[in-house]
Amino acid sequence: MFEALADRLEGAWKKLRGQDKISEANIQEALREVRRALLEADVNLQVVKDFVAEVQEKALGAEVISGVRPDQQFIKIVHDQLVEVMGETNVPLAEAESAPTIVLMAGLQGTGKTTATAKLALHLRKQNRSTLLVATDVYRPAAIDQLITLGKQINVPVFELGTDANPVEIARQGVAKAREDGINTVIIDTAGRLQIDEDMMDELAQIKDTVQPHEVLLVVDAMTGQEAASLTRTFHDRIGITGAILTKLDGDTRGGAALSVRQISGQPIKFVGVGEKVEALQPFYPDRMASRILG
Ligand code: GDP
Repeated sequence: MFEALADRLEGAWKKLRGQDKISEANIQEALREVRRALLEADVNLQVVKDFVAEVQEKALGAEVISGVRPDQQFIKIVHDQLVEVMGETNVPLAEAESAPTIVLMAGLQGTGKTTATAKLALHLRKQNRSTLLVATDVYRPAAIDQLITLGKQINVPVFELGTDANPVEIARQGVAKAREDGINTVIIDTAGRLQIDEDMMDELAQIKDTVQPHEVLLVVDAMTGQEAASLTRTFHDRIGITGAILTKLDGDTRGGAALSVRQISGQPIKFVGVGEKVEALQPFYPDRMASRILG
């Protein structure tokens, strides 16, 4: 569906034959191709503009490397810049000095938040970290049932107080229970709405104030593309996130949301969801994502 950036750049660089250096005059068409490739990968427009400006500056300032064609050098600059923006290396989940580590999951409904909660628990178990899942979405009984079912499936306890309790209180008691039981990490699943909604934000802010989590992970559906940018901005401004989980990367999206999320929040993407099954969670690696975004 998408041409690789290298192929796309070929035409742009044809004019360069006989020239051995990146220059202001010859770089414009190549930058346009980068811009197009990123927009097709669903990176947010403003993020693309900032990114391209940065690449231009780096490319013009780059030293000529003998034996390396300027087009190859240019592609490497683009790739390296993508990796740099996305944070260079994988950043693991925080672990509190004294247990329990408290993780608050945030995001819109349908993004894969509840699934990611269970996936994370399974991932931590492989590191011998015990978990307690806390169900605070009292607005949708199905959401609590879903977490209970997932908990059973992976053999992890779920704390819930039904649908009549106050979500902030459920979170508080869930953390107390984890502390009492000597659990390593408590993961709080919260209510999502179809769209950003003031009540949802208020509730999340209150839960955060009350439990003082070590991690606030925003769950972002990679398929939402451009919208990931405004979603990230809203959640980060309002709640303050410490990282993100990008879900549904098993689809055919190029994953441009990864670049938007990182550039806008400055916080790392820690994991990616690559399927509906509880095992389908992987650590996020910036270099792999850079290659994917470039197509
Ligand atoms: P929530 O409303 O945010 O809690 O979302 P759910 O966890 O209920 O997930 C919504 C839908 O997305 C479900 O059908 C999940 O099976 C599916 N889902 C979640 N994560 C992934 C993923 O990484 N890949 C795919 N293909 N589907 C996913």
